[in-house]
Amino acid sequence: MSYDQPDTPVRETIIPLSVPEIRGNEWKYIKECLDTGWVSSVGSFVERFEVEVAATVGARYAVATASGTAALHIALLVAGVEEDDEVLVPALTFIAPANAVRYVGAWPRFVDVDPDYWQMDPEKVVTFLDQECRWANGELRNKTTGRRIKAIVPVHILGHPVDMDPIRDAARKYNLVTIEDGTESLGAKYKDRMVGHLGDIACFSFNGNKIITSGGGGMIVTENASWAERARYLTTQARDSAVEYIHNSIGFNYRLTNIQAAMGVAQLERLDEYLERKQRHARAYAQALCEVPGVAVPREAAWAVHTFWLYTILVDPYEYGCSSRELIALLKSRHIESRPLWMPIPMTPAHRQSDGTPMDVSRRLYERAVSLPSSVGLTAEERGEVIGVIREGPSA
Ligand SMILES: *Cc1c(COP(=O)(O)O)cnc(C)c1O
Repeated sequence: MSYDQPDTPVRETIIPLSVPEIRGNEWKYIKECLDTGWVSSVGSFVERFEVEVAATVGARYAVATASGTAALHIALLVAGVEEDDEVLVPALTFIAPANAVRYVGAWPRFVDVDPDYWQMDPEKVVTFLDQECRWANGELRNKTTGRRIKAIVPVHILGHPVDMDPIRDAARKYNLVTIEDGTESLGAKYKDRMVGHLGDIACFSFNGNKIITSGGGGMIVTENASWAERARYLTTQARDSAVEYIHNSIGFNYRLTNIQAAMGVAQLERLDEYLERKQRHARAYAQALCEVPGVAVPREAAWAVHTFWLYTILVDPYEYGCSSRELIALLKSRHIESRPLWMPIPMTPAHRQSDGTPMDVSRRLYERAVSLPSSVGLTAEERGEVIGVIREGPSA
């Protein structure tokens, strides 16, 4: 297929997939850091950002980190995940949570996602724990590998929450820790409860492509005071004396800087507005695309508030007339950025040693999904252009 000569003129600037929206107090707060000299890993904005993220989620404690990946690494450590433990991770997610499991020497045990909302499938979690593991001496072990199952990491992908209640019940039954990866879903709700307040500990990211950004950064939130304290200790090089350099553990430099936190605070002030904008994009996309043969729009469970962080459709190649990858190329030829979902992690060479159930749903989503421009600042005209190209389809 060639897209060299579209009949409609090609726009000059690119419609990006997702770019930060910077229109508030970012300049003012960052300038305050520069004016006062509080630019590094200590400062009032770090504390303020922690307090405000905790309040947003409804959690008691928050600890800022250098990234969402760092937050996951520390959350696994404070939750007591150890070398050679196994941790349940969904097959379809950005790779960070699986990598973080390997950082502590544990192994991800992949679980397929559900076909309706594309999240870690609670039925498959329960089936695995009940049927493929054995409970003995207060521990759950994988019958095949013999390893201890220690934690579950539900990842709320794309802005939709995981169906948490059955996962929490199973975790309680087998004494497992639940570590939420809420990096893509700040502001989403599950049965009127905020993502980030549904497990034992949760992680967020403020990377440039997330709903709000601090340039880079992350956050751990929890109700557990001693875990929060331990997390703060480990992220600040595990320093046991403020004066003498005494360290009783191997720590990390995973701190967020005051400049980054200043940006985060400014961004968080606009979270509600950003969520509203993303949801408006989603309504417009859904209305225009739900009737296109071969295109399926994302669903929102009755028990969910979906933030539509990254609006993602599925393309049936036979009915639509071309594959997801061909649609991505077509959009690109019109200067519109789009992209597929992640390769299921058990298929990626980096994690080939890890184990998992058959990943039929994840594979199908990987083949069919196309994420569309979803920036907060996307205009109605730009949205209309994206919709126009998809409606025209490969015949154009
Ligand atoms: C972005 C992301 C992360 C990692 O966040 P960083 O701040 O980029 O380290 C972790 N998990 C998921 C699902 C993500 O999308």
